[in-house]
Amino acid sequence: MSGANALHEKLSVTPRACFKCFMACGCLAMIKEGRHQGLKIEGPEYETLYAFGGLCLIDRIEEIAHLNDICDRLVMDTITAGNLCAFTVEAARQGKIDHRIDYGDVDAIAKLLNMIATREGIGDLLAEGIRFAAKAWNMEDIAVHVKGLEPAGYDPRVLKGMGLGYAVSDRGACQLRSTFYKPELSGMIAPDAIQGKAELFLDFEDRLTLFDTMIFCRFFRDFYTWNELGQIVHLLTGLSGADQELRKQAATIADLIRHFNIREGLTREDDRLPESLYKQLEKTGHQITADEMAFMIEDYCRLRGWDKNGSPPSLEQ
Ligand code: SF4
Repeated sequence: MSGANALHEKLSVTPRACFKCFMACGCLAMIKEGRHQGLKIEGPEYETLYAFGGLCLIDRIEEIAHLNDICDRLVMDTITAGNLCAFTVEAARQGKIDHRIDYGDVDAIAKLLNMIATREGIGDLLAEGIRFAAKAWNMEDIAVHVKGLEPAGYDPRVLKGMGLGYAVSDRGACQLRSTFYKPELSGMIAPDAIQGKAELFLDFEDRLTLFDTMIFCRFFRDFYTWNELGQIVHLLTGLSGADQELRKQAATIADLIRHFNIREGLTREDDRLPESLYKQLEKTGHQITADEMAFMIEDYCRLRGWDKNGSPPSLEQ
């Protein structure tokens, strides 16, 4: 049993909403039976299923919920935690570390989560992040991250705009800056398209930057177009809500963040995908090439008005 059927079979699920939200995207779940019977959590969400299910090969949803609960209590992000655990499994399998852990070994993974939180043993290094662990274990060739952040559950070999999003995101392989999986999965733009992708990506990224400034939930992205955002900004602040003005403000924020990152040492070479994501997917043949990525990133920088080094105009201009 897999997918949503497993969720409903093994867990008792009720919708959960933030105050007054009609979408109620959350779920409260309680494990019905087994060793975690009675455990209540909010989730597990898609990304947690990907990270502990897909990456760590845990095939029982109750156990994924159990790991989700541990991460919540330790205040750990489940995407990063799942990626780190899977990376540790690979390190152990390749003999890079002397630590007992394997795919599907829930108890060893649960133990590792606690070790990371308390910085015990190899947990001390893993708490620094995958980039540091990869360097210490001589595994940089297979470490999957951008700017030190591990990706979410959207494969850029299938959703090529997500590849652009991971590469240019100011905080690494983040799915939330632009949520560009949405237009690619919903048919707004073909997932394997390259031409025109940066333009639509930039539109999403800028609009969601304004969402962040107003602390709006991302899942309202289909309701609040530029036009609605303009009306909200004008009604709340009295400032112009004109489309071009809003886009200019969002672009300025992108420039400022980029300036900050460059000051902290970021270079154009950091806008990249990890090597392993250039490998063809065995089952489906999906692939993204370095040329495709280079085209989208160059297009993105051109549309942002950044130079060939990925630098925005100086702040004085
Ligand atoms: S859609 Fe957003 S506001 Fe609504 S329940 Fe989900 S997270 Fe909360």
